[in-house]
Amino acid sequence: MGFFSSIAQGKKVFYKTDEEIELMRMANLIVSKTLAHVATLLRPGISGKVLDREAETFIRDLGGRPAFKGYNGFPASLCISHNDIVVHGIPDDRPFEEDDIVSIDCGVEWQGYYGDAAFTFAFMGTPAPVMELLEVTYGALYQGIEQAVAGKRVGDIAFAIQHFCEREHPYAVVRELVGHGIGRSLHEEPEVPNYGKRGQGLLLQSGLTLAIEPMVNMGRREVYQHEDGWTIHTRDGKPSAHYEHSIAVRKERAEILSDHSLIHEAIKNNPYLKKISPKSKNFAAQKN
Ligand code: MG
Ligand code: MG
Repeated sequence: MGFFSSIAQGKKVFYKTDEEIELMRMANLIVSKTLAHVATLLRPGISGKVLDREAETFIRDLGGRPAFKGYNGFPASLCISHNDIVVHGIPDDRPFEEDDIVSIDCGVEWQGYYGDAAFTFAFMGTPAPVMELLEVTYGALYQGIEQAVAGKRVGDIAFAIQHFCEREHPYAVVRELVGHGIGRSLHEEPEVPNYGKRGQGLLLQSGLTLAIEPMVNMGRREVYQHEDGWTIHTRDGKPSAHYEHSIAVRKERAEILSDHSLIHEAIKNNPYLKKISPKSKNFAAQKN
């Protein structure tokens, strides 16, 4: 789940101990397993509502609590956002179609700590230009993660994502929703925008835990919120993609707490889904 940018200033930033980060890793493992489980079920004809019910049961069976359900009144355990929906889609009865892209965002609380990750899936009929949007957005996530090391600033993450999407590729990052600190709450300080200037914002220190989540539009950057109070659409109706990891800032290299490898494995075994690799020169250096 993205965070509506409020440009909050002066709020407290919580740094986590190694023990707390282990609890977050567990929460994120439940998130990752849930997304992988959902990936085994994805096929044209199935609806978001069915996936959401499956996910809620799966999360609770693993001892977790779906963090999105009831969050500011959100009615479901997953955000499911297809095609021109950027984020915060409410799972419904619409059957998926064979050329859909589907962004699925999952949050879990486990023993008082939170995990949050998202992945945009592509059905077999997804055209090449839309695949390119997905792989660049996914690459942008890793461009951002590469900057999440002690001594850098939030603006370095933001700049890396924006530069990759808007300068190296012809896309537009969404401004209204941002990544966020995460830990004892789903959304903590600081905000982690997907646009910004190098060397600005909060200084990153070891133990800071962040959800980094580029939301990237194929066309123009403008979005609007549906009258349901949640669903965010692109204004021009073109597709949008969203990938998210929860990470811990460390000295040499960020530690990725969520695990997309489980999702990739599920995609490989699902004949209805196209494989997606992040388009990023830094990906080989990262894990998960
Ligand atoms: Mg999320
Ligand atoms: Mg999030």
